Amino acid sequence: MNPWEWFEKNAANFHGELRWNEPLSKHTYYRIGGPAPLMAFPKDISALRWLRGGIETTGVESFILGLGSNLLVSDEGFPGLVIKTSRLDLGIQCIAEEGDSIIIRTGSSVAVSTLLRRAAQEGWSGFECLAGVPGSVGGVVVMNAGTHLGEAQERIHRVGALLMDSDSNREWTRGEMEFEYRRNRFLPGDAIVTWVEWKVRKLEPAFVKKVIDETLERRKSTQPVDYPSCGSVFKNPRESGLRAWQVVDQLGLRGHRIGQAQFAEKHSNFIINLGSARASDVRSLIELAQNRAKAELGVTLEEEVKFLGRFSG
Ligand SMILES: Cc1cc2nc3c(=O)[nH]c(=O)nc-3n(C[C@H](O)[C@H](O)[C@H](O)COP(=O)(O)OP(=O)(O)OC[C@H]3O[C@@H](n4cnc5c(N)ncnc54)[C@H](O)[C@@H]3O)c2cc1C
Repeated sequence: MNPWEWFEKNAANFHGELRWNEPLSKHTYYRIGGPAPLMAFPKDISALRWLRGGIETTGVESFILGLGSNLLVSDEGFPGLVIKTSRLDLGIQCIAEEGDSIIIRTGSSVAVSTLLRRAAQEGWSGFECLAGVPGSVGGVVVMNAGTHLGEAQERIHRVGALLMDSDSNREWTRGEMEFEYRRNRFLPGDAIVTWVEWKVRKLEPAFVKKVIDETLERRKSTQPVDYPSCGSVFKNPRESGLRAWQVVDQLGLRGHRIGQAQFAEKHSNFIINLGSARASDVRSLIELAQNRAKAELGVTLEEEVKFLGRFSG
């Protein structure tokens, strides 16, 4: 039986939107990526459970997509179900105050830019370390996103997720969560992050806004924000003492192009899409830098970007 028939037949019971043969290039910051046979936009937990039922019945592969800002999708696309979390829970709420500490609860769908705007209005200090990160709250937790001002893990208080395999909700408190540089070590592979609580401080709104604005300004002047990208391609290889952009520079790859993909002149740890780059071009640049870094400098460049779909070679 065609595995997608189940989803077609039962679509009336789905709370959200289903799109067939959806180009993933419309859902990645890179503007790159072939189609997925089905993309679902669940609006609540019952919709996630419906999707879970479909996955269990049909055995289709699935992938959780936040806002697609850290993702390179293959030119062939992804042959399974993509669950886009952008409409799951968009709530932002202050739920407790203890002295000058406050707890903010956010749905995992909230865009970082929206959260920062609200933080600047209310004087919630602590989110500034995410200024300029273009992802969703769910993606930020998974990636332990951060900037020179700090990492998400410093503010995350509690996390809630639906575990798709066992159809159970799970919560993690601070002591139960483990993070590393640009990754987490506590979320199981089947977890869909549904909400996050943050412990931050209440300060003057004007002060919070100033720090956010300055950070955004700094990024604009140092990063190629006019071109599609996934942000930093490589993690900083800590053992070498070099930052990833310095490794790319030492290899003479700043500005190097394959097809329409290029190590940006402005920031050499960004690979930008000059217009019609293919995923294979980006991937070739990544592999070129990795192979040469190993051979010529003895440095391992680990990708920060996540890959989805099949890549040859
Ligand atoms: C211009 C630019 C600048 C950037 N700058 C920074 C930076 O300064 N610092 C930084 O850390 N990152 C940066 N990034 C990378 C990116 O924004 C972060 O990694 C972000 O946290 C990804 O969030 P997302 O919602 O887009 O996740 P996606 O790219 O959609 O997904 C990333 C991973 O998270 C998983 N995921 C997403 N949502 C959920 C969920 N709800 N439940 C379970 N799994 C989920 C996906 O399966 C995938 O494995 C930048 C990206 C761009 C394009």
